Amino acid sequence: MALIVQKYGGTSVGSAERIKNVAKRVAQARAEGHDVVVVVSAMSGETNRLVALAHEMQDIPDPRELDVVLATGEQVTIGLLAMALKNIGVPAKSYTGWQVAVQTDNAHTKARIENIDGGKIKSDLGEGRVVIVAGFQGVTPDGEISTLGRGGSDTSAVALAAALGADECQIYTDVDGVYTTDPRVVPEARRLDTITFEEMLELASLGSKVLQIRSVEFAGKYKVRLRVLSSLQEGGNGTLITFEEDDNMERAAVTGIAFDKNQARINVQGVPDKPGVAYQILGAVADANIEVDMIVQNVGTEGTTDFSFTVPRVEYRQAMELLAKLQDSIGATSISGDDTVCKVSAVGMGMRSHVGVASKIFRTLAEEGINIEMISTSEIKVSVLIDEKYMELATRVLHKAFDLG
Ligand code: ADP
Ligand code: ASP
Ligand code: MG
Repeated sequence: MALIVQKYGGTSVGSAERIKNVAKRVAQARAEGHDVVVVVSAMSGETNRLVALAHEMQDIPDPRELDVVLATGEQVTIGLLAMALKNIGVPAKSYTGWQVAVQTDNAHTKARIENIDGGKIKSDLGEGRVVIVAGFQGVTPDGEISTLGRGGSDTSAVALAAALGADECQIYTDVDGVYTTDPRVVPEARRLDTITFEEMLELASLGSKVLQIRSVEFAGKYKVRLRVLSSLQEGGNGTLITFEEDDNMERAAVTGIAFDKNQARINVQGVPDKPGVAYQILGAVADANIEVDMIVQNVGTEGTTDFSFTVPRVEYRQAMELLAKLQDSIGATSISGDDTVCKVSAVGMGMRSHVGVASKIFRTLAEEGINIEMISTSEIKVSVLIDEKYMELATRVLHKAFDLG
C-alpha cells in the first residue's frame, strides 16, 4: 500500500463525463489498496474566463480580488469530484486551499507555498476517505485567499506530496507524458520514458508548460517521485522524472526543445561605456519587479555602448515606460524594443559531453533564413531569441536536426 497524490488538470476535469472518469481512476487506485489524495484544476477554460471577466471590471484587476475570483474555479471541481466519488460508493471529502491549510506568502496571483498542514488530510485518510484538495490556491499569513500563478495546480500537488511524504506524485494531463517537444506543434515528437530533473527544470523554465516550473523545483528540493501520465488513456507508465546522477556518455546531445512566446526585447543605445551603467538600467527594471532574462552588452566604441535584454512580454510596456523616464539620467541616445519575439531552446544533459551543439543550432536556423537576435547558453541548454513568426518552424527544424522524432 502506498500514499499517492494524483493531480488532474483542466482538460481532465473539463466536463461532467470527464470528472466521472477521474472518479473511476481514483476509485481504482483505492481498490488497489492505496491511500489517495487528489488535487484538481478548474475545468478547462474556466480560469481564462474568470481572468477575462476581471479585466472587464478593471484594466489592471486588484490582485486580492482577482485571487478571490480565480480561486472559485477549483472550488467547483473539488466539490463535483467528491460527489462523483460518493456516487460510486467511495467516501471522499473536498478541501479548499485555506481549509487545509496551504500557507503561502502575500504575493497575490503569484504566491509561493511556505507550509502545508497535513493534519486534516492524514486523519481523513486514516478514516478511509479519499481527500480532494483544490489546486492553484492557498491562504496568506493574513488569512486572505491567494493563487499560485498559472499552471499552479502542479505545484499544489507536488508540495502536498512533499508535505505528506507521499510515495509518488502523478500528474495526469491530456498527453501521456513529457515529449521531446510540444506534440501539438511537432506531431513527430516522442514521449520520453524518463527525463532527468535538471532537464525537466530547464524545459519548464524555458516555456514547456507540461509542468509548472515551481512544481519541478519542489520535486527536486524534497525528492518527490514525480510522474506525468495521461488521464484520457488507459495504462502506460508516462514519464518519470529521475534524480540519479548518470554519466551516460552515449546519450544524445539534445533531449528536448522548448519555446516561449512570453518574450520581449529592449535595446538601450548609446549609453556611456563606464562602470555602473548596467546596474543603472537593470537595477531600475529589477526594482519594478520585472524579471530580466537574456542580456547582451556590446563592446563600446567611442566611449558609448549598446545594451539589450529581454523581459516577459506582459511587462514590456511597463519596462519601456520606466526606461523612457530614465533615458536622460542614463544618458542613452535612444531606447527601442520589440514584443513580437520568442525564445526557442534546446535542452540536454548530453551537451556536457558533445561539442558543436550551438553551431548546429545556428546552422539549422540559418538554412531556414531565420535570423538570431540574441543567444544565451548554460551547461545544458542553448536558447535563441528570434522573430515569433518563426517559432513553430524553428522548433520543427531543430527537432529534426537533433533526430528527436
Ligand atoms: P493541464 O491542464 O493538465 O495542466 P497543460 O495544458 O497545462 O495541462 O499541459 C499539458 C500540455 O503541455 C500538453 O497538451 C502539451 O500541448 C503541452 N506541452 C508543451 N511542451 C510539452 C512537452 N515537452 N511534452 C508534453 N507536453 C507538452
Ligand atoms: N486553473 C489554473 C490555471 O488555469 C491552475 C492550473 O490549471 O494548474 O492556470
Ligand atoms: Mg498545467
